[in-house]
Amino acid sequence: MQSITVKAPGRINLIGEHTDYNNGFVLPAAIQKAATVTIEKRVDRLVLMNAVDLNDSISILLEEIKPSEIHWANYIIGVIVQFQKNHNFPTGFSITLKSDIPMGAGLSSSAAIECAVAYALNELFAFGIDKMELALMAQKAEQEYAGVQCGIMDQFASLFGKKDQVVLLDCKTMEYQYFPLLLEDYTIVLFDTQIKHALASSEYNTRRLECEVGVSMIQTKFAQVNCLREANLDMLNECVNASLHPIVYNRCKYVIEEMERTLAATENLVANDLAAFGEKMFATHEGLTKLYEVSCVELDALVAMVKNKKEVIGARMMGGGFGGCTINIVKKTELNKVIVNTSDAYKQKTGKDLVHYIVNIEDGAHITN
Ligand code: ADP
Ligand code: MG
Repeated sequence: MQSITVKAPGRINLIGEHTDYNNGFVLPAAIQKAATVTIEKRVDRLVLMNAVDLNDSISILLEEIKPSEIHWANYIIGVIVQFQKNHNFPTGFSITLKSDIPMGAGLSSSAAIECAVAYALNELFAFGIDKMELALMAQKAEQEYAGVQCGIMDQFASLFGKKDQVVLLDCKTMEYQYFPLLLEDYTIVLFDTQIKHALASSEYNTRRLECEVGVSMIQTKFAQVNCLREANLDMLNECVNASLHPIVYNRCKYVIEEMERTLAATENLVANDLAAFGEKMFATHEGLTKLYEVSCVELDALVAMVKNKKEVIGARMMGGGFGGCTINIVKKTELNKVIVNTSDAYKQKTGKDLVHYIVNIEDGAHITN
């Protein structure tokens, strides 16, 4: 094989937010928007990277791979370096990248690139690495080369997604289970604030630290607890005084409740009770706003606008927070009305045009040529 084309999708997360790095549960799915890479072997030792959408390209020798000043290239370089830790590339290669995932909207355009490249290189050079290992390598690429201490969810979802199914991933054991998402008369629509407040990445790292502080406080009485996944509300109440340490207390309370909520949400799916599932999405939003404090006025406004509409059975901010999208489960027959009304209200409130994406749940990374 001299060349390969791989498509790796973006993702949504139905419920289970800010739980992955606490070793908890997430419930993501891959979507129809995807990054596509074509990788062709070369006769020399060059790695040529071409980002078609940005009309930009760079090249670097395999032996001289290092972080680049060109931001987008680091998502690719970061992956190549993970391969180089245990494998040798017999030749250089040319990578052509395209994507229709909006950048920075919280649909993980970055993870899709990493996963497409990881999947394609593994196939093209027949390294025989399994998909879970590829997900971990893609995550490391993001951590080491984009400087984001992300959990495993985005890369996992891009590689393991299945059409019309959500995946419950246990981020502690990496065990996973598929659940059909029977939307029937409903559909998923994302409302994109098109905002990314500057605090997003610093606050993300702060939240991780706050959770770690909570764990160390719980450990003073429960030495066996190594992560919030292993804690419960009783332990939290016993070890973290809510009036003395309100921030740590609230962060941990949210995470512990969200893990329980995510598991309970999968029971709603099994019982085909979409209304109960949607209620939990609203509850998640409440927790993310009030306890975890990662929302913003635009996201809160979008959720408030749909909350009392009977045609919207669930909505919440999705992703890291401080911007990005809300995810909404909306009755198909009322979809246009909901989009128009919400867009009007959003324009009135923020002066901004609201972008929306209707989402289908599709298969994860796969070869297309
Ligand atoms: P998200 O993953 O939520 O979309 P990130 O900030 O993590 O947002 O990743 C966005 C970055 O990924 C962009 O700044 C760019 O460097 C890279 N990227 C995304 N899509 C493309 C693309 N089509 N071509 C090149 N680089 C892209
Ligand atoms: Mg990203």
